[in-house]
Amino acid sequence: MKAAIYARYSSDNQREESIEAQIRAIREYCQKNNIQIVKIYTDEARSATTDDRPGFLEMIKDSELGIFDLIIVHKLDRFARDRYDSAFYKRQLKKNGVKLISVLEQLDDSPESVILESVLEGMAEYYSKNLAREVMKGMKETALQCKHNGGLPPLGYDVAEDKTYTINEREAQAVKIIFDMYANGKGYSEILSLLNKNGYRTQRGRKFGKNSIHDILKNEKYTGVYIFNRTASKYNGKRNHRKYKNDEEIIRVEGGMPRIIDDETWKRVQERMNNKKHAANKAKEVYLLSGLIYCGKCGGSMTGIHTYGGRNKGYYSYYECNVRKRTKECDAKSINKEYVENLVINELEEKVLSPKAIDNLVIAITEYTKSQSSEIHKDIKVFQEQLMGIETQINNIVDAIASGMFHPSMKEKMDVLEAQKANIIQKLEEAKSQAEIHSLSAETIRKYLEKDIGIKTKSLDEQKRIIQTYVQKVVVYEDYIEVYRILNIARFPSPPP
Ligand SMILES: [Zn+2]
Repeated sequence: MKAAIYARYSSDNQREESIEAQIRAIREYCQKNNIQIVKIYTDEARSATTDDRPGFLEMIKDSELGIFDLIIVHKLDRFARDRYDSAFYKRQLKKNGVKLISVLEQLDDSPESVILESVLEGMAEYYSKNLAREVMKGMKETALQCKHNGGLPPLGYDVAEDKTYTINEREAQAVKIIFDMYANGKGYSEILSLLNKNGYRTQRGRKFGKNSIHDILKNEKYTGVYIFNRTASKYNGKRNHRKYKNDEEIIRVEGGMPRIIDDETWKRVQERMNNKKHAANKAKEVYLLSGLIYCGKCGGSMTGIHTYGGRNKGYYSYYECNVRKRTKECDAKSINKEYVENLVINELEEKVLSPKAIDNLVIAITEYTKSQSSEIHKDIKVFQEQLMGIETQINNIVDAIASGMFHPSMKEKMDVLEAQKANIIQKLEEAKSQAEIHSLSAETIRKYLEKDIGIKTKSLDEQKRIIQTYVQKVVVYEDYIEVYRILNIARFPSPPP
């Protein structure tokens, strides 16, 4: 795990730890948990009135780059000063796959409310995707006539005036080269260097990369099949998050567009790609509890490991304490992967995602949303009043300047007010989106929960998503295991030796 550190100090609060002390505590934590520190961001507030956190904003921006998986703070109040600030930036981090950790509050708030919040956010995201599906309906009409549906056409095609596809000869050459070389056993790098050397470019005019080659090799359109809605739109802006839609949402028209690749080549390419995928899948074990499982003895995190070993030279996978692995200062035993994962899956299946449990969960979540909702609406009112106050002050200064009074201090005052205004607007926006999340109806909540029924029959990726939604942490002690899941903490015996 790679982490960025964030430390903040405001000189007007004498009781705060210094930046050095915060960093020291975080370093200790990282060493203990086998976390590599890649960057340190700090802010020293000059005054409490302006929201002046250049280090913080730089860190949020850097979270897009994928250089760290975690942001570690000493205390959560270093990261954000109120729940709206916190929710806003946490969501941005989540989009970029970055998790926030606090050294002192290893589990923030009560486990119940934390998981409820994350479940609610998942629901809101799910329902906004359903809205997108409605928009799709209109696009389907166009698709049935084998017409281009907007965006860039695939490499090798142009869009004619009547919106049908025609072949772009130069680009089609590149497509043929890619398929032929791959079908004949060449690797991506060989293909790339030939394409780039001969001046071929992608539809966006860029040099080819491995991702673009992969996408082209997977695109059945090149065999003359018109396909609409093959992939859901990329969410998170990341390629690997692409998901295939259900079959019934896909429109396929054979011969619906001009062909570039013959069936024989297409078949050979797909066979080779599938073989490669199987080889890669075999080596990759999915650890359903990664990031959630902790050692009860020392508090450190545990990591999934697999080896061939033991007396029978069999295959073993398990979770091991990081501290033990690194420093041998902890002597906690490892735990069998299958044992602890099954325990969690059974617990979720029985206590969270069964029809009866869902009834109780719907009640609990609706009560929670109601109580939160009234708080949030109170906050929205306060923010709106503050915003009006600031706007009045800004208008007064503008009026003064307009009537010929100008003093250099006005400019300074104006800058402070504008910064405050931007800050409040952002909080207001976040509060409104929170209000929306907390206004889901009981029926909506029920539908969302029901889609995860039958966890045992789902794919490993789905299982992982479900576990990461409903379980906050799993702690492995010497003779028992604790599962912190939504609305409850359950205790189980350790596996027999
Ligand atoms: Zn340990």
